[in-house]
Amino acid sequence: MTSILKNFPNWPAADRVHAFVTERTGGFSTGKFSSLNLAHHVNDDFSTVERNRDLLQLSVPENLSFQWLNQIHSNIVNVVSVPSPPIKGDSLICRVPGIACCVLTADCLPVFLTNLKGTEIAIIHAGWRGICRGILSKTVNKMCSDPYDLIAWLGPAIGPCHYEVGGDVKDALKKSISAKELWSRIEICFRESSTEGKFFLDLYKTAGAMLKYLGVNKIYGDDHCTFRDREKYFSYRRDGETGRMVSTIFIDPKV
Ligand SMILES: [Zn+2]
Repeated sequence: MTSILKNFPNWPAADRVHAFVTERTGGFSTGKFSSLNLAHHVNDDFSTVERNRDLLQLSVPENLSFQWLNQIHSNIVNVVSVPSPPIKGDSLICRVPGIACCVLTADCLPVFLTNLKGTEIAIIHAGWRGICRGILSKTVNKMCSDPYDLIAWLGPAIGPCHYEVGGDVKDALKKSISAKELWSRIEICFRESSTEGKFFLDLYKTAGAMLKYLGVNKIYGDDHCTFRDREKYFSYRRDGETGRMVSTIFIDPKV
């Protein structure tokens, strides 16, 4: 694994905040889960996933605890102050050092948030369903920080080049957004496909528009496609049964 413990390039997070996304290489899993699959729910061998998670633990400071989620595409936001077994929901907020907040993805968008001082962090599992249900706004609203003081990083997700969706997705998003001004910014994230009734959705721009509407103006990242980059990323849309990358953010216990 490389680039662990390194803030994302050009992301102006405080020195005490670390964030990273794993890639699919460097682990023990084989076949369709090859090789650094960090998810238990995808049918990979349990003990192999544990070995992969041990690798992850070895790559971060001692005494760091990983907080996992049982992700369900919901709008459930959890504030954690002590590490616990996996919690149901799709977002974690944390204000104490030493807890690595994790989401698992293979196409859905991982959204990292921190305030500029580095006293509060959050991570969100944002697929279109979670976005419809308000996972982004619920997280930002539950954070103590002023949204204008937050910076966001959009981790690797399926890009607009490959994310074809039906009109039902567009309808569901439209229905979930009451502000006309916001919908006008989201509507342009759907580009018509050559297949009738289908669209290519830009998840990055969708999440970005929503975050900006919430007052989070400093947004970084967003230049990957998990589907396109098969060497680097798992992609559920591309491969069906496959592994998951982890996106992690934590406040350094030593800084
Ligand atoms: Zn793509």
